[in-house]
Amino acid sequence: MESTIRQISKSAYVVIGPEGATNFAIVKGNDGGAVLVDADIRRIDEVEEALRLTGSSRVAYLVNTHEHFDHTSANFYFAQRRIPIVASAGCLGAMRDEGAFDFERMLKPVPELYQRFPGLHLTLPDVVFDRTTEVRLRGVTLHLEYRAENGHSHSKGDTTLYFAEEEVFIAGDLLYTEVHPVTFFGNISNWLAALKPLFQTHYKHLVPGHGPTVDGEQSGKAYFKKMHDYLEDFYGNLQEVKSGRKSKEEIIKHMQGGAYAALGKTRMVERNISQFLTGKWF
Ligand SMILES: [Zn+2]
Repeated sequence: MESTIRQISKSAYVVIGPEGATNFAIVKGNDGGAVLVDADIRRIDEVEEALRLTGSSRVAYLVNTHEHFDHTSANFYFAQRRIPIVASAGCLGAMRDEGAFDFERMLKPVPELYQRFPGLHLTLPDVVFDRTTEVRLRGVTLHLEYRAENGHSHSKGDTTLYFAEEEVFIAGDLLYTEVHPVTFFGNISNWLAALKPLFQTHYKHLVPGHGPTVDGEQSGKAYFKKMHDYLEDFYGNLQEVKSGRKSKEEIIKHMQGGAYAALGKTRMVERNISQFLTGKWF
């Protein structure tokens, strides 16, 4: 399966990962410069192709929505090209404290990338903000906001972007559409709290971290609601399993059936549950 590039407004494009793989957004300024939102070194050819196809003459900034490998591992590549990398202090802290282990773990299956990119290593963002900041290009204003409730929701770095001129909201991994989320790095009750203010946001187009983009605010709200209800249901069931009232198999069956039967990345369900129950991440 190949990724697709979707133009969602006059100047915003999204590389939509196949089968729920990570999305990368490109917001183009009037002078051809672009802001790239998230990039994975394993998919750098797709990113370069998308920059070329969208006529982005240069990347002015790379933004990391949060610290996870699939969103930040191409930092090295863009830092070598002297492109500033913008992220929240929460994202920076998580990468600094826990990133190196994860970086090596994720590259184990693809050692050839060390040959292709000599010196490849975890590369931290270098333009860091606490709560909010703005990134500007000609004709583009991006409002960045740190959203990790109590410092930890889906991740410790969760940041959203709002492209004001064309009313595009980029939610990062606080939102997954049409696929099961990765929850095991997260704090689910904080994640639920972080979603609440997102019901009040305004936009014409909505970009999740994984899954298809959404047009229209009402449809967007419905997706935020689905995300919220999924996490609430999952969290409640986890407590039942922890207390011995339900079995792990029951909750796997529940999260793969009913309203969730059509969601992609079904394999995530068991991983999410197992990681929580072993207490490894939680
Ligand atoms: Zn993530």
